[in-house]
Amino acid sequence: ATELAQTDPLTGCLNGRSGGPATDALCARAEAAGSEVAVLLIDVDKFKQVNDLNGHRTGDAVLTAIATRIRALLPENGVLARIGGDEFVCALPFDLGQRACVERFAANLIEDVSAPISDGDHAIQATVSLGIASSRNDDGSIVKEGSDRLIHRADIAMYHAKKRGRKRYYWFQGQMENELRFRHELESGIRRGLAAGEFVPFYEQQIDLETGDLVGFEMLARWHSPQFGLVSPETFIPIAEEMEVIGELSEGLIRQALQDAQQWHPKLTLSVNISPIQLRDPWFAQKLVKLLDDSGFPPTRLE
Ligand code: GH3
Ligand code: MG
Repeated sequence: ATELAQTDPLTGCLNGRSGGPATDALCARAEAAGSEVAVLLIDVDKFKQVNDLNGHRTGDAVLTAIATRIRALLPENGVLARIGGDEFVCALPFDLGQRACVERFAANLIEDVSAPISDGDHAIQATVSLGIASSRNDDGSIVKEGSDRLIHRADIAMYHAKKRGRKRYYWFQGQMENELRFRHELESGIRRGLAAGEFVPFYEQQIDLETGDLVGFEMLARWHSPQFGLVSPETFIPIAEEMEVIGELSEGLIRQALQDAQQWHPKLTLSVNISPIQLRDPWFAQKLVKLLDDSGFPPTRLE
């Protein structure tokens, strides 16, 4: 019963419930011995695709193979737990300040895991991204809050590794937490701003270089945020795309611009920018036609 309660039936690793206490015990021993513990959070890259392309059973076999390969690298006193679908936590002690040892371990892990895994008559390749947190802060003091905190830090660093292109590792650094917090603040700011109409069109002149005449205006989005001031699109567009609110945001701006452009000289055109995400929407053309229809703006003047 104890074994069932503590292990993950698929991979034979510790499970989420028992991984934390095992890591805490390892940290306590390392603290007493004056050494450190590295906590690694390992997440399989694009694992949904592995399942979608090969089926859930093969996905399970890939998870098992990955666990076996990690275990083969791990020192005897190391800890390996599967804490979520495709997430593993691995903890290993190392001599004080010897981060290079951990980096070698992480690099070997990434390489070994990415070797082909045979599945019947074909082979599957899976890669992992990982974040690493140490049981000691940069100044040598012990991270007090224990394994939960270390796993959280490793998770933040893992997220960083995913953003930087996957199949790589990063040590946790304090500023990553600030970046993540800032990102969350931007996300909730965008949600609030959409409802409050804080996104507004700005217009840039388009000049014919041969005649010097004004031929139209390009609409560029700006965000008047009460919290962040005037925010440029390079900052908020990529986030709005990931949040999948870009369509709503863009349509609101186009609606506004079509209205503004009614006041312009009838020979001036209005240009708008479209995100690739919007082009994937099969209804996009219809939505644009509806916006034009509602505004009465001549379609020939819209670029
Ligand atoms: P990313 O690189 O961003 O991590 O992409 P991802 O597709 O791996 O995304 P994520 O880690 O969020 O998704 C994990 C997927 O793992 C979701 C689910 O389909 C799959 N999964 C979770 N548990 C199991 C399991 O026990 N067996 C199998 N075969 N698949 C699982
Ligand atoms: Mg994953």
